[in-house]
Amino acid sequence: MKITQVEAWPIDLKLSEPYTIAYETIDMVVNVIVRIETDQGLVGYGCAAPDEFVTGENHTTVLKAIYDVVVPIVTGADPLRMAWLLEQLKPMLRNQYAALAAVDLALHDLLGKIADLPLWQLLGGYRDGIITSITIGILPEAETVARAEAWVRQGFRCLKLKGGQDVEADVARVRKVREAVGKHIAIRFDANQGYTVEQTIQFVMKTQSAGLEFIEQPTPKRDRDALKYLSSHLALPVMADESVLNVRDTYLLVTTNGAKLINVKLMKMGGIAEALRICEVARAGGVHAMVGCMDESVLGIAAGLHVALAQPNVKYADLDGHIGLLNDPFAGGAQLKDGMLFPSDKPGLGCEWIDKESSSKIVSDHVSA
Ligand code: MG
Repeated sequence: MKITQVEAWPIDLKLSEPYTIAYETIDMVVNVIVRIETDQGLVGYGCAAPDEFVTGENHTTVLKAIYDVVVPIVTGADPLRMAWLLEQLKPMLRNQYAALAAVDLALHDLLGKIADLPLWQLLGGYRDGIITSITIGILPEAETVARAEAWVRQGFRCLKLKGGQDVEADVARVRKVREAVGKHIAIRFDANQGYTVEQTIQFVMKTQSAGLEFIEQPTPKRDRDALKYLSSHLALPVMADESVLNVRDTYLLVTTNGAKLINVKLMKMGGIAEALRICEVARAGGVHAMVGCMDESVLGIAAGLHVALAQPNVKYADLDGHIGLLNDPFAGGAQLKDGMLFPSDKPGLGCEWIDKESSSKIVSDHVSA
């Protein structure tokens, strides 16, 4: 079997509600779709959801990487030599994690379709569903509470609150949400690097009665000592997110007791193959993983879900980036039932391309460019 064509194009995804985190407000994102076709007519889809703050990439750098690096190497190759292909691409796509993820996802989608199996089963099938959190950005107290109650009414059992701009306001919001939703809903908190060590300690002490599940990336990503200090001094588990982008970061983190948990996101780590390795390296150091996401099409969410279902060291999922997209070009892939995500029974990533009109238009624009 041979790969005959590789194409990529950007797609603007509109969010139904803009949201704010510690360092930005977001109302629209651009994903890059990658489509790989074989001489037997099978098609694998991948996507990149580049985040400039996290990996320094944007849709222009991703498209350039796909056309300059991926197309020449992957076109004509055997899709069943995925590990070989990805090892060729990795040194050429150094620090271009979302671009690597897009091609990794498309190759895994293709692999599942060749095997005629949903990817999570092909990768081991450890569990068949997982609870996901739903994220609430930084909002005034009353709106945060209203949003939390609405999500719980819709069946979510786990909320992730964003903060990091103002400790006192964050403390008040966390306490109010706990009062409103009761003790059976899990609440996790992400400060997105917004706190100092002292502010983190203050926040954790003042929210103790709210029974948070963990705190995610409270301090700046490059300050590994801060994360390590907090992780060893706080009873509340500290999760590393922006600090960990690859296997080496994970190794350094777990061998220096740098955090109790890590957030594994395919778009900041280079895709499914790397995410699975990172989960195993973390496991060797007794560190559990959460599979997280960016604002991405359900195709990317499904890919994260397949990792979460296949990998025993995954303890949590935060796979909500597709909820609230107004024009997702893919359907299927992940089904939400009472706050739990379940995979599709279709092969590969299990998604279907539904935006045929804009697809043909954009593809022809970019292929001829
Ligand atoms: Mg985070």
